[in-house]
Amino acid sequence: MKKPCSKTLAAAESAKITVIGGGIAGITAAHELAVAGHEVSLVESSERLGGLGTYFDWNGHWIDKFYHCQMPSDDDLLQLIDDLGISDRMYWKQTRMGFLVGNKRFAFNGALDLLKFSPLTFLERIRFGVVSLLLRQLGKGKDLDHMRIEDWLSGIYGKSIWEKLLKPLFVSKFGPAAGDMPALYIWERLGREKNTASRGYLKSGLKFFLDTAEARLKDLGVEVIKEAKVSSIDEVGDGVIITTLHDQRKIVGDWCISTIPLPLLQHVLDGTSLEEKVRIPDVPYQGVVNAMFFLKRPLDNYYWAPVMGCGTEFDGIVEMTELIETGHYAGHHCAYVMKYCDRNCDLFQEDEKSIALRWKQQLIDLYPDLQLTTADIEDVQVFKAPFVEPAYPLGYSEKKPAINENGNRLFLATSAQVYPRITAWNSSCWMAKNVVRELTERMAAEAGNRSGARSVVSIS
Ligand SMILES: Cc1cc2nc3c(=O)[nH]c(=O)nc-3n(C[C@H](O)[C@H](O)[C@H](O)COP(=O)(O)OP(=O)(O)OC[C@H]3O[C@@H](n4cnc5c(N)ncnc54)[C@H](O)[C@@H]3O)c2cc1C
Repeated sequence: MKKPCSKTLAAAESAKITVIGGGIAGITAAHELAVAGHEVSLVESSERLGGLGTYFDWNGHWIDKFYHCQMPSDDDLLQLIDDLGISDRMYWKQTRMGFLVGNKRFAFNGALDLLKFSPLTFLERIRFGVVSLLLRQLGKGKDLDHMRIEDWLSGIYGKSIWEKLLKPLFVSKFGPAAGDMPALYIWERLGREKNTASRGYLKSGLKFFLDTAEARLKDLGVEVIKEAKVSSIDEVGDGVIITTLHDQRKIVGDWCISTIPLPLLQHVLDGTSLEEKVRIPDVPYQGVVNAMFFLKRPLDNYYWAPVMGCGTEFDGIVEMTELIETGHYAGHHCAYVMKYCDRNCDLFQEDEKSIALRWKQQLIDLYPDLQLTTADIEDVQVFKAPFVEPAYPLGYSEKKPAINENGNRLFLATSAQVYPRITAWNSSCWMAKNVVRELTERMAAEAGNRSGARSVVSIS
């Protein structure tokens, strides 16, 4: 493992910075700041770091609650993994994509598969293939941030392909208003993902990564404070005071970086001196209900497959053991199924056990040819997350919150600012690094002003 290499700053240059939220954004920000020699407190409301990249104990095995994989283009995350000295644990595998449409299974990994994809007519298949190849090119020079996804895609693919294939895909991720989102989102997304793709995973799982990161942060002198929900952030003079909910503990710093979802941040700022100074757009967030199946048999040979018109409540399947050894799951095959939805909807509010029971039967019915029975399913675990990703409005590039504004001492590094990048660990890393860069420039400017003021005083 690499040795931490904290640059020691002169006491006058070193600042005290509080980072709120111990997900990957908070971890990255705390790491960058500590390596630069600052005094950092990382404050997390739950009992462990990880945020959405969290895990649970399944009969003595640490299993990720939500499916996570990485892409070879995840430069900022891979750099962090390297900085932590664990890049030798990263491995890559070619994975495949499928489609389940009307209870039929289709491979979806290239021209030959597309030619056999019968949910589209033959001419539609050809059109789909040609337009998909040209899609990145077709978007160049267009103001896609102000163009509805539906208008752009139904224009170039044709109405029928939009209705049969693309609309259900977007609606499954962003809800009924998905067609109103900016086309820039999909254009950008195509830069990251391919159907047949090399996907990566860290051997030993997310817990290993998070334990390593936490140990490194502590080595660098970061104060990691868990089970501490921040209830207010206030600016007082040249400092920021954070108050935690249950013990009313005050943490005083020169600066603060918040990584928590915007609706939670809004709540934390309500009634404080920062309420009027930080512009937080009212964007709807999608949450997720996600069920994890421990199976005695594999399902198919696809890493992921959207599910359409099959009578299931879930809209997609990620068969994790297409990427990860079954040994990671105590010898079981592992599949996640998911429904992205609003946190206030009936499904999100429903009890996990009853969802598990219903979705178990739906999974069995989805693969009649496999003749799955309940005996093939060892266990089902349901997890929910209320804030996964905003359903972005048109023109979101101008609407998204600034990293910092009005000269205040609070900086934002939330997943709602990564747009038009997709919400992912890498994007949060990238965001956190940008925010640390901007904060560092601001600190340097303030230090310059102070020394300028001092020299004026000494001359006079
Ligand atoms: C089902 C699913 C699948 C995914 N698949 C992938 C994938 O394959 N690859 C990939 O790269 N990404 C994937 N992601 C996305 C990825 O998990 C997120 O983009 C990333 O974790 C966001 O990290 P973050 O640090 O920005 O925010 P979060 O992870 O949301 O972290 C915010 C943290 O703030 C804490 N917090 C909230 N309020 C307070 C408070 N008041 N006080 C203190 N702490 C607070 C929370 O507890 C949390 O730990 C997936 C997400 C989901 C849900």
